[in-house]
Amino acid sequence: MISLAIPNLIGREAEYLQECISSTFVSTVGPFVGRFEEMVAAASGAKYAVATSAGTTALHAALVASGVVHNDLVIAPSFTFIASVAAIAHCGAQPWLFDIAPHSWTLDPVLLAETLMEQTERAPDGSLRHKVTGQRVAAILPVYTLGIPADMDPIIALAREYSLPVVSDAAAALGTSYKTRSSGSLGADFTMFSFNGNKTVTAGGGGAIVTNDEEKAKLFRHLTTTARVGSDYDHDMVGFNYRMTNIQAAVGCAQMENLDVFLTAKRRIALTYRDGLHGIDMFEVFPDPEYVRNGHWFSGIVLNSDFARHLPILRNRLREAGIDARPFWKPAHLQIPYANAPATSMPVSDGIWPRVLTLPCSTGLTEDDQAKVIDAVKLEFTRL
Ligand SMILES: *Cc1c(COP(=O)(O)O)cnc(C)c1O
Repeated sequence: MISLAIPNLIGREAEYLQECISSTFVSTVGPFVGRFEEMVAAASGAKYAVATSAGTTALHAALVASGVVHNDLVIAPSFTFIASVAAIAHCGAQPWLFDIAPHSWTLDPVLLAETLMEQTERAPDGSLRHKVTGQRVAAILPVYTLGIPADMDPIIALAREYSLPVVSDAAAALGTSYKTRSSGSLGADFTMFSFNGNKTVTAGGGGAIVTNDEEKAKLFRHLTTTARVGSDYDHDMVGFNYRMTNIQAAVGCAQMENLDVFLTAKRRIALTYRDGLHGIDMFEVFPDPEYVRNGHWFSGIVLNSDFARHLPILRNRLREAGIDARPFWKPAHLQIPYANAPATSMPVSDGIWPRVLTLPCSTGLTEDDQAKVIDAVKLEFTRL
């Protein structure tokens, strides 16, 4: 089977893991965590990085550090991996779900501006309120879908206008940029990266937050390490045990040494699909807006509406041909726990998600295997 997106362990992973064992530093103490944080900060263009057990836990703690509390609303795109909205729910808050822009699959800033204007008001205590429910609007959580940074200039301008903190879910956007600025430095208070096994760079599992604000970095580190004061058992806040381990960071450091190799591979794979599948009018490839340096985390196709009903057949036939092709995210407004969350109308998300098929795009994918995938996709379309 040609896999969809598997880890590519071509570097010093085994050597660094052996160092963890030899040194006994297998838990949260050890040299790799700090080294990993420095590498992530440098690659994202931010001053500070703090590593965590997962991307989801990083988002949760970042929302808490941004002041999100029970019953608040946090603005997020509905078209995202479920972890973005689960992190909001973990705070006792609710997502306020927004549609995406069709050219980028990221939060639509025009819709955001209109909706904030029409559907919010300032309460006497100065807080921003959602008119219909009376809930406080507490933060904005843009998602850098597929490694495409959201359109952050207008989003940050709105966040400033409405005094809202911004926590970016840049899970798969390490090494990407927006209008020449690196993904960790686009104006968000916190920017999260994930190092889950299917991401471009993995730590086995893990996450990180980057920020340019020293106080925010300190608060986040404090919150994610049990909010301990001093080295005894004094704690001044309700903290989390969300620290990355040295074992995860050992894998992460070895992977980070190959970040550029992996990004180049992802780009090559995306362009090879684009060129190899060119001229078939039954689908398009994934978006690639000109104002970003795209991470191309996943590659794949979007079937034209007339062919959407064939997606399950295509998927099965490709599987039979030894090719792992899968659907992509189902939007949050269609998921049981978030079905009653406030939401904009969703013409773009509803229109796109049932038509997406992701194709094998591991950074270790060989040219031969990718040629097989392209041939198989072409063949299956002629059989429809
Ligand atoms: C992978 C991913 C996450 C979750 O990260 P984990 O490290 O798996 O917890 C969150 N959001 C998006 C958009 C993702 O792609």
